[in-house]
Amino acid sequence: QNVNTDVVVVGAGGAGLASAVEAHDLGAKVIVVEKMAFPGGNTTRAAGGLNAAATPLQQAKGIYDTPEIMFYDTMKGGHWKNNPELVRTLAEHAKDSVDWLLALGGDFHDVGLMAGATRPRTHRPTGGALVGPEVIRTLYTAAENRKIDIRVNTRAESINKVNGKVTGITVKGPDGEYTINAKAVVIAAGGFGANNAMVASYVPRLKGFSTTNHPGATGDGLKMAEKAGAALIDMTEIQTHPTVVPGDGTMITEAVRGNGAILVNNEGKRFYNELETRDKVSAAILKQPGKTAWLFFDSDMQKSLKATNGYIKQKYCLSANTLDELAAKMKVPAAALKATLKDYGAAVAAKSDKQFGRENLPRALNKAPFYAITITPAVHHTMGGVKIDPKTQVYDTNGHVIPGLFAAGEVTGGVHGGNRLGGNAQADIVTFGHIAGQQAYIYSRTSQ
Ligand code: ADP
Repeated sequence: QNVNTDVVVVGAGGAGLASAVEAHDLGAKVIVVEKMAFPGGNTTRAAGGLNAAATPLQQAKGIYDTPEIMFYDTMKGGHWKNNPELVRTLAEHAKDSVDWLLALGGDFHDVGLMAGATRPRTHRPTGGALVGPEVIRTLYTAAENRKIDIRVNTRAESINKVNGKVTGITVKGPDGEYTINAKAVVIAAGGFGANNAMVASYVPRLKGFSTTNHPGATGDGLKMAEKAGAALIDMTEIQTHPTVVPGDGTMITEAVRGNGAILVNNEGKRFYNELETRDKVSAAILKQPGKTAWLFFDSDMQKSLKATNGYIKQKYCLSANTLDELAAKMKVPAAALKATLKDYGAAVAAKSDKQFGRENLPRALNKAPFYAITITPAVHHTMGGVKIDPKTQVYDTNGHVIPGLFAAGEVTGGVHGGNRLGGNAQADIVTFGHIAGQQAYIYSRTSQ
């Protein structure tokens, strides 16, 4: 049952599919293993979009943006803990990632603003639909068209090495255990947000937190890579997403705030700049009564973002034609809510939010019907992981490259530093997934 291939990819999320398609297109024989019954991973759940600077779409809309500005925003958002070389690669190549996805038939024709970015650079499907399903649809369709060998229900168990060089992986598939001998291995197995024991072992205060992650995000790739000698970095950098439906784990996309929604607490009051970075907004919500808050928006904002149709259908939104009625449903004081909206409307009119310093004030939120969604922070992204360089080569704990081992996506550390900006995960997985495919192919042709 053992098989031979040029490149084997662990994980069929966005990073894994991107590297598989790219390695295949360059001429490699590729096998992808996916432990779940279907591809997609956490990527399928990605809501916001894909950040890229200086794209034709931005230019057509008159948005001035450059890789340099994206670099600065990403480093600042990550508290300057990011690996600058990785961020530079991300900022310079994200534009090519958008071009590539468009060439593969994807719909990334909308662009909007997300928290922590100084320019609208978050690319997403027409009308602001969810990005992750479109990234996976695009890459998976490409993989299917190319007849790439994707083995679902097949879990990678270990990375095999001989004389320090990677020689393949051992997997457990529906018919038992076997070995895939490969010239190069790409680890794209995602993060560990769904493994609360592992999360709490690095950050004890997150014990018992719910998560936005898919159940397969258990850190297998990290453990396997560590056993193969890889260095893990930034493991305590774990991001909570500020706006998640309590108890349910459904994430409400940051684009809701980007397109104009505000946050109000259970007293009906605004309390923070909604467009601050995820770590800061999460911390601010946890300081409010009940450790929850409300995303509030009007019909004008709702119509600007298709993603909200789903929230309405799934009944996450309370709605009413007047603020009094909505306040009653939210069980917050109506007078306070009305005063909050009056102040906010004045801030929008004055183009200045003196209270909380929000810079982007796109709408006054005064068009009925009004909507509110209750939210709280949940574990969202594990920023730490396998140590790589801009070529996605994996490093051991002595600072040496592990020959034949590459990694891309959430399994890696260093790209996002101490805090990931919304829209940068999709940029990360497509950009570094693509590079991993190239590098694994080159290695498979040049190594002895
Ligand atoms: P990324 O965004 O980095 O691509 P995803 O979470 O989208 O990460 O994808 C990672 C994929 O890897 C998921 O589909 C997950 O089920 C898969 N995976 C995780 N561990 C293993 C494993 N041991 N063997 C095979 N696939 C795995």
